[in-house]
Amino acid sequence: MIPAMTPLAPSERTRVHRLPQRADYDARTIAAILDRGFVAHVGFVIGGQPVVIPTTYVRLGDELFVHGSPRSGMLRAASDRIPLCVTVTLLDGLVLARSAFHHSMNYRSVVVFGEGRLVDAADEKRAVLEQLVNRFVRGRAEVVRAPNEIELKATSVIAVSLTEASAKIRTGPPLDDAEDLVVPCWAGVLPLRTSVLAAEPAPGVSADREPPEIAAGLLEGATG
Ligand SMILES: Cc1cc2nc3c(=O)[nH]c(=O)nc-3n(C[C@H](O)[C@H](O)[C@H](O)COP(=O)(O)OP(=O)(O)OC[C@H]3O[C@@H](n4cnc5c(N)ncnc54)[C@H](O)[C@@H]3O)c2cc1C
Repeated sequence: MIPAMTPLAPSERTRVHRLPQRADYDARTIAAILDRGFVAHVGFVIGGQPVVIPTTYVRLGDELFVHGSPRSGMLRAASDRIPLCVTVTLLDGLVLARSAFHHSMNYRSVVVFGEGRLVDAADEKRAVLEQLVNRFVRGRAEVVRAPNEIELKATSVIAVSLTEASAKIRTGPPLDDAEDLVVPCWAGVLPLRTSVLAAEPAPGVSADREPPEIAAGLLEGATG
């Protein structure tokens, strides 16, 4: 079971100014969004150049973990304790208004400010890598070959503290201006969901191997 987060308060950087009624600093809300997403975008500045890299992640307690080759720019930046900004977005719907201006999206998103902590201890590194695999399907780490020493060496794991984070959530119909209610077009929300389709076995998988309960695991633990 993934540990809970400690409660948060908005900081100078995480206080939402635009449409602040959509902000949420409740650690449970932030954790729920992070635990449903699959892709984080990690932003940092290298030599004056902003870079934003999409990547897999897992939240464990008050930290979000990313992993990759020690040679990856993102992992190097994170281990050098360069300031990072990490975002996760769940897209819930397309909001079609009666005016072009009020078109919008329904979403749940999280923004995190922090710096990386290189996970050195072998035990912690193994535990995080297990949880990263379990993000795909619950219990997956128990049925696959665990990483060997070479693979562990070839993988850096970075933790980013979730102590400075905000969530922002938009729900509901378009917010049309009163005078636009007469515009003769359809308006409303087109809901969007991530769904799991029929599993495609890899070449060589014997026919008596059932695909894991992927859909059940995903729907409980991580869909957009
Ligand atoms: C799918 C999607 C589509 C969007 N489309 C648009 C668009 O087309 N145009 C547009 O202007 N905005 C859009 N937004 C909203 C956008 O993310 C910003 O909230 C908004 O632009 C205000 O930005 P700002 O820099 O003025 O925020 P400010 O309110 O000044 O931000 C201050 C702090 O609030 C927090 N914060 C701001 N936005 C978010 C967020 N989305 N999630 C979590 N924390 C946040 C951060 O910690 C940030 O540092 C969209 C958001 C999502 C998720």
